[in-house]
Amino acid sequence: MGKTLAGKVALVTGGSRGLGAAIAKRLADDGAAVALTYTSSPQKADEVVLAIESAGGKALAIRADSADVEAVKHAVAETANTLGRLDILVNNAGVLTIALIDQFSMDEFDRLVAVNIKGVFVATQEAIRHMGEGGRIIMIGSVSSDSTGFAGISVYALTKEAIASFTRGLARDLAPRGITVNNIQPGPIDTDINPDHGDFADGLKKIIALGRYGQSDEVAGLVSYLASPEAAFVTGANLKIDGGFAA
Ligand code: NDP
Repeated sequence: MGKTLAGKVALVTGGSRGLGAAIAKRLADDGAAVALTYTSSPQKADEVVLAIESAGGKALAIRADSADVEAVKHAVAETANTLGRLDILVNNAGVLTIALIDQFSMDEFDRLVAVNIKGVFVATQEAIRHMGEGGRIIMIGSVSSDSTGFAGISVYALTKEAIASFTRGLARDLAPRGITVNNIQPGPIDTDINPDHGDFADGLKKIIALGRYGQSDEVAGLVSYLASPEAAFVTGANLKIDGGFAA
């Protein structure tokens, strides 16, 4: 049987580590050629490319800070030029700062908004120039937009809720063009941003109904479904994958 994404091209922002790396590898396994962006980990990005190529796939790493409008525009153009088209955009790059509101600096506020919101807007606006019928925009939001669980993530939650409402609006904008837009809202997933053995892990596990962190591959599986032709009737959805964190 043919692979579900054979002939398709995907761009995953922040694909050098964590969720983005797992998503890039999964979409490549499904048959897509994959471009991934990174900012500070060229070696990790190269490892993801090598892993995909070793498995017989096609991949490309592009340095592009999601806070830099021109860099994001360039990354989208380079993906389409080098890999020939663009069908799937996964807006995964994101940053987290944990601080109570009275200690939250303006610089950190601006950084979270620039990466988590503005970078998503620019990548999406550029990517849809290349997309046609069957195109897919997949956001990586967070369960924190509905349920924070603990103090100190108000600004992060604000940025992720912005993505949830952006998703609903975009679904209406892009439906006439046959492009779906969905937002995956993970709960705690074991990555560098939120390690399974980090300072917050024990407290978080008590809130998660299943009592454990999720794995990046579990989120990548949901991305794979949303990117597939089978998900053509799913759009404007905010889909939690949180082990029951918000249940
Ligand atoms: P990680 O910190 O493990 O990885 C972040 C990735 O994003 C890296 O590849 C990093 O690249 C890249 N990145 C960071 N900043 C930028 C930037 N300014 N421009 C481009 N790329 C950037 O995080 P996760 O994999 O855990 O997070 C991925 C997404 O999932 C984020 O949007 C996060 O908010 C969301 N999320 C994560 C949860 C979790 O528990 N892990 C829960 C809910 C949502 P580089 O290696 O170059 O630094």
